Amino acid sequence: MARLGSWIKACPEGIYVEPADAWIDPSVPKARAWVTHGHADHARGGHGAVLATPETLAIMATRYGPQSGQPIAYDDTLRVGEVDVRFVPAGHVLGSAQIVMEHRGERIVVSGDYKRRSDPTCPCFVPVPCDVFVTEATFGLPVFRHPDTGSEIDRLLHRLHSDPSRCVLVGAYALGKAQRIVTELRARGHDAPIYFHGAIERLNQLYQEFGVELGELRHTAGATKQEMAGHVVIAPPGALNDRWSRRLPDPVTAMASGWMRIRQRARQRNVELPLIISDHADWDELTMTIRELAPSEVWITHGREEALKHWCMTHQIKACELNLVGYEDEDD
Ligand SMILES: [Zn+2]
Ligand SMILES: [Zn+2]
Repeated sequence: MARLGSWIKACPEGIYVEPADAWIDPSVPKARAWVTHGHADHARGGHGAVLATPETLAIMATRYGPQSGQPIAYDDTLRVGEVDVRFVPAGHVLGSAQIVMEHRGERIVVSGDYKRRSDPTCPCFVPVPCDVFVTEATFGLPVFRHPDTGSEIDRLLHRLHSDPSRCVLVGAYALGKAQRIVTELRARGHDAPIYFHGAIERLNQLYQEFGVELGELRHTAGATKQEMAGHVVIAPPGALNDRWSRRLPDPVTAMASGWMRIRQRARQRNVELPLIISDHADWDELTMTIRELAPSEVWITHGREEALKHWCMTHQIKACELNLVGYEDEDD
């Protein structure tokens, strides 16, 4: 009998699905690409035909212009070559999907990026038992245990209300994290307008078009310091320490990221209020997911593979690392 999963191949530029002649999240242009979600390290421009959820295609169109390809709704099954392919929710960002493939009685699930805790901006991760689970491991070390999201949001609000003459400037990745922070703030009863850096505006609009309620959003451009005092301002991480932030009223600099667990990372960005809020599974979520899916094999991609590989082996699950290039951890 052939080795399990021998019909998919890990190449440096992505995962190649041979019987469908398709690539998953390729880092270079390919004739046929299946894209798990819209983050730039997974969704590149220039492919011949893209298969992705309607939300992901819309995100790619915002970034790269119109995409040739085909939308696939969650849970629809499509036959491509000799493979049945289905996209199921990954709980990572709007439109994010795991790719479930069946071929000759074997089922392989490629997780893309995922998390298990609830996120008001996208449907929850759906566990699909499989023979081979290809998992990310961005936070694949036992030290990474993300706290409860609500308590991090409460810390933000406490800081905001403690000095109404200042604003709290939150650095958040433009796709997903920024909109999630808004919906989490709304869920904690924060109804005030939230100010935004212009670079996030198009993605906010796109989320709203897909039915995600964000409440009243305002532009920082044109707003006075006085107007922004006592308010939350959200900007891409790159804007935290640049000239742009001088227009804000004495900002308390915050950053929402799983990396805020590491003090040194917070210091590097001059972050006064580190918020540990991540769109990736933490150590407990990774191991819980593998237990739940009970695959025969786990293949581990971008991240800290060693510890998770070791954990799998001690739980009698065969595991290996896939060395894919071009994935960054910016979308944490
Ligand atoms: Zn991502
Ligand atoms: Zn990723």
